[in-house]
Amino acid sequence: MKIKSLIVVGSGPGGSVAALEGAARGLSVTLIERDEVGGTCLNRGCIPSKFLLSKSRQLVEALALSDAGIVVRLETIDPRQMINRKNELLGTLRQRIDQSLKAAGVRRMKGHARFVTDHRMEVIASGGTTETIEGDAIILATGSSPNTPTLFPKHPAIVNSSTIFELEYIPKHLVVVGGGYIGCELACAFQGLGSKVTIIEKEPRLLPTQPEFEMAGMLLGRSFEKRGMSIWTGTTVESVKSVDDKRIELSFSNRERLEANAVLIAVGRSPNLQDLQVSRAGIDLENGRLRINEYLQTSVPHIYAIGDLVSPVPLAHTASWEADAALSTLLGKPTPINYSLIPRCVYTWPQAAAVGLTETEAKNAGYHPRLDRYHFAGNSKALIENESEGVWISISDAQSHKLLGGQIVGPQATELIHLVALAIKAGLSARDVSDTVFAHPTLSESFREVVNRSLITSKAIANS
Ligand code: FAD
Repeated sequence: MKIKSLIVVGSGPGGSVAALEGAARGLSVTLIERDEVGGTCLNRGCIPSKFLLSKSRQLVEALALSDAGIVVRLETIDPRQMINRKNELLGTLRQRIDQSLKAAGVRRMKGHARFVTDHRMEVIASGGTTETIEGDAIILATGSSPNTPTLFPKHPAIVNSSTIFELEYIPKHLVVVGGGYIGCELACAFQGLGSKVTIIEKEPRLLPTQPEFEMAGMLLGRSFEKRGMSIWTGTTVESVKSVDDKRIELSFSNRERLEANAVLIAVGRSPNLQDLQVSRAGIDLENGRLRINEYLQTSVPHIYAIGDLVSPVPLAHTASWEADAALSTLLGKPTPINYSLIPRCVYTWPQAAAVGLTETEAKNAGYHPRLDRYHFAGNSKALIENESEGVWISISDAQSHKLLGGQIVGPQATELIHLVALAIKAGLSARDVSDTVFAHPTLSESFREVVNRSLITSKAIANS
C-alpha cells in the first residue's frame, strides 16, 4: 500500500522531526501532542539542564579568575530570575518549532492520543472532547517519564528531573539519588551554584549502566570528590522522612543519616506507553515494552516506534535519527539503525563523551582492538585554558589501524567526539588522521596525538 497519510504521536525531538521530514517527503502529516511542543528535550531535559550547567559554569569560571588577579565578587544568586530567563529561552525555541511545523503544513492536534484500531486514533483534549483521525502509517514518539520509587514521599523539596528546573532556591545541601548522566549533570550544575552536593549511587561507579563510560565514571567520581562533592557509591537509600518544608532526612544501607534541603530523584526513566491502548491496534508487547525490529517497526508493520519510548540509547539525537530512518523505511527504503555511531555525551566538567565500539564490542565484532591514551595534561590549549584534567582513549584495530571507537573525558569532550564519529563513519584509519594537519594550539590536535600512538610499535610505547 502506498503511504499517503501519517499520524505522529509526540512532538519531542523524535516526533517533531518525523512530522517535519514526513511533510517534506510529501506525506499528509498530523502531529498529536498532549503537552507543550518540544517534548522532554526542550521543556524538561536537554535545554533547561544545559542552560543551568552553562550559567553555573560561567559563575565557576568568573570566580576562578581570582587566580589571575581578577576578583569577581558574588553578591547574590536570584533563582527566580534564572527560571524566568530559562523560560524565555524555552519559549523562543518552542516558537521556532511551531513556525517550522506550520510552514511545513503539518496539521496539529492537542490532546492525549490512543488507539482505536491499527489505522485510527482518538485524541482526547483536556476538556474531554474527543476527535478521531485515520492514517496509513503511525509513528509513536511518546518519550519517557522519570521513575519515582514509592520510598520517596510527596514533598516540595523532593524533585525529579522534570521539576528541579522550577526550584526557587539554591539548596544548601542537595542529595542526588542516582549517578547516571542526568544525576551527574545536575549535581555539577548545583554545586557550581553553591550547593553542597552528595550523590548516592547503588552501583560501584558513576554512569554505571554505560560500559562506554567505565573510565569516565571513575574519573568523574574522582574529579567531583576533589571539588568537594560527596560520592557514595555502593549505597542505597533505605528511608526518606520529611523534617519540614525544606528539610528531608534520609537513611542509607551502609552510611550515616543525612539531612538535605532538596533531594533529586534521578533513578531512570520509563517509556510513556500506558494509556496508548496499543492492544486495540494488535501491537505485541515483550516484558511490558513495545517489541520493535531493526527498522523500528512494531509487530504491526505500518506502526513504528522511535525515541525514548523504545530506544536502547535514549537521547534526543537518537530520537531524531530514528525518525528519519523510520520515514525512509515506511516510504520504501528500508533503513536499519546502527546505534554504535551515536555520540553519547555528558555535559559535566570535565565533560565525557564516547562513540563507536568499546573494546569488548570490538573483540566481539572480530577485531583485534588496541587502546591508546593521550592525557590532556600534554595539550597546550588545555593548559592555557586551565582544563588539563582528563584523557582521550582511541580504540583501533591493531592490524588494519582502522578507527573503531573513542572515549574522551576532558575539556570540550562533547564537541571533540564528533571528530571521532566522522572518522569512524568515513572508515578512516589512524594513518588518515595522522596525515591530517591540525592547528596548534587546539584541543583537536589531541586526536592526532592519540592515534599517532597506535602507529608506533608496542615496544616504542613501552619505552615512551
Ligand atoms: P520526548 O522528548 O519525551 O517527547 C515525547 C512527547 O510525547 C512529549 O511531549 C509528551 O507530552 C508526548 N506524549 C506522550 N504520550 C502522549 C500521548 N499519548 N498523546 C499525545 N502526546 C503524548 N538527550 C540528549 O541527547 N542530550 C542531552 O543533553 C540530554 N539531556 C537531558 C537532560 C535531562 C534532565 C533529561 C530528563 C533528558 C535529557 N536528554 C538528553 C534525553 C532527551 O530529552 C530524550 O532522549 C528526548 O527528549 C527523547 O525524545 P522523544 O521524542 O523520544 O520523547
